[in-house]
Amino acid sequence: MWCSGCGIGVMLGALLRSFEELGYEREDTVVVTGIGCTGKSDDYLITHALHTTHGRALAYATGIKAFNPRLHVVVLMGDGDSVTIGGNHFLHAARRNIDLTAIIINNFNFGMTGGQFSGTTPGGMFSQTCIYGNPERGIDICALAEVAGANYVARATPYHVWEMKTNIKEALGKKGFSVVEVYSPCPTNFGRHNNMKSTPDMLHWLRDKGLSVEEYNTRKPAEREGYFAVGKLVDRDEPDFNERYDQIRTIARKSQGRC
Ligand code: SF4
Repeated sequence: MWCSGCGIGVMLGALLRSFEELGYEREDTVVVTGIGCTGKSDDYLITHALHTTHGRALAYATGIKAFNPRLHVVVLMGDGDSVTIGGNHFLHAARRNIDLTAIIINNFNFGMTGGQFSGTTPGGMFSQTCIYGNPERGIDICALAEVAGANYVARATPYHVWEMKTNIKEALGKKGFSVVEVYSPCPTNFGRHNNMKSTPDMLHWLRDKGLSVEEYNTRKPAEREGYFAVGKLVDRDEPDFNERYDQIRTIARKSQGRC
């Protein structure tokens, strides 16, 4: 159902291959989606799926995981759902380090509703509602996830599709909150307003501006302007929410003489 050249289907293909390679059963897997172009992904799935309200996908997913920690819970969101309308939930899911995998399609605008600017539209770039340039700075989703406490953070693009699958697979296997941000072509809206009307234009932009993490880190800050790192950015093993909750529950029971 997506526009020609959209990156969402590429992400979904990588996710389904990861499910298959990890041997996930449909009965044990829940995919939670928000609103927008990315939110339509669940129409293609035969796992459990929950299509939620705008910006609240992580809140629903948190409830599912808290109720049944054995389930694999994956959350698919756009940049609107994750860090614009849903920014507060994103911050707290990462801080809580709850065992969810969040895959965020960042197309730098609200694509489904006509291309309004979002919280990740880069400063100076254009959209339907900032035709003279965005005066605000775009949020760096990966940096936000890292400082808030996520155990795993990576950035991928449809140009680097095999690496994307590797990152998604690693994120699914990681305990705690894991985030894969996918910089995704939206030729219909974001591309049209930024001189990238065709799919190859958008893919070339991702190819030319995406640097390996190693190369990005060796550059001085001024030389990073306009570029972004692609690959694994954070991989740590801090206790997740359920582990810490169980520890505290044990302490509480001991203090009450119940164990
Ligand atoms: S509007 Fe943009 S994000 Fe939405 S389906 Fe079309 S290309 Fe994809």
